[in-house]
Amino acid sequence: MNDSQLLRYSRHILLDEIGIEGQQKLLAAHALVIGAGGLGSPAAMYLASAGVGRITLVDNDTVDLTNLQRQIAHTTERVGQSKAESARLTLLQINPDITVTALNERVDDARLAALVADADVVLDCTDNFATRHAVNRACVAARKPLVSGAVIRFDGQISVFDPRSGEQPCYSCLFPQDQQFEDVACSTMGVFAPLVGVVGAMQAAEALKLLMEVGGSLAGRLLMLDGLRMEWTSIAVGRNGACPVCATKTK
Ligand SMILES: [Zn+2]
Repeated sequence: MNDSQLLRYSRHILLDEIGIEGQQKLLAAHALVIGAGGLGSPAAMYLASAGVGRITLVDNDTVDLTNLQRQIAHTTERVGQSKAESARLTLLQINPDITVTALNERVDDARLAALVADADVVLDCTDNFATRHAVNRACVAARKPLVSGAVIRFDGQISVFDPRSGEQPCYSCLFPQDQQFEDVACSTMGVFAPLVGVVGAMQAAEALKLLMEVGGSLAGRLLMLDGLRMEWTSIAVGRNGACPVCATKTK
């Protein structure tokens, strides 16, 4: 690290659990952020400010006026522009030291497999079950840790699915692919703006800890937030031995 980096990251380096070694792990790491909206904005901004050396942002949407109430990586003047590109500009304004790749594309299974294989940690910041399951399948196949967040109305949830150990559940263990979950979109249900900040920032925290191998992760636990009462509930979640995604993939 040069002098400027030592200053930029000094408040991390001061932490015994991080220090120079942990910060260098972040600088050498590659995070894949899928979705540059309400969750992806704060998540990616904290990854960037904290010095994750390579960040890849995937989003095929464009910035809309209705996004700006909560998607804080975007600005009024960027309405109509690619979300991935808009977020890339924001991240580089915060930290020009890092490499940010913006992918303005809808990713299929093959593309996801390639992107996930190249990443050290994956953040699912999307808003539909089909993509969530596709991201989960790619993470299980490549044995990459997945930090999953979701927010709707006044409710949020976050967990980590870590297929590296062979003992933790995957996303499909909790939310089976064949189950008909109704996609409750923000466009019809509404979402309380700061909750995506709360959950997105926590996704960044979990991703940074995974990259530095600091503390314990949320793997095996699902945290649920009731934003109206401002209460968290933590529930233990186990593997489904018959899960079609992970049962045959890990031991
Ligand atoms: Zn599973």
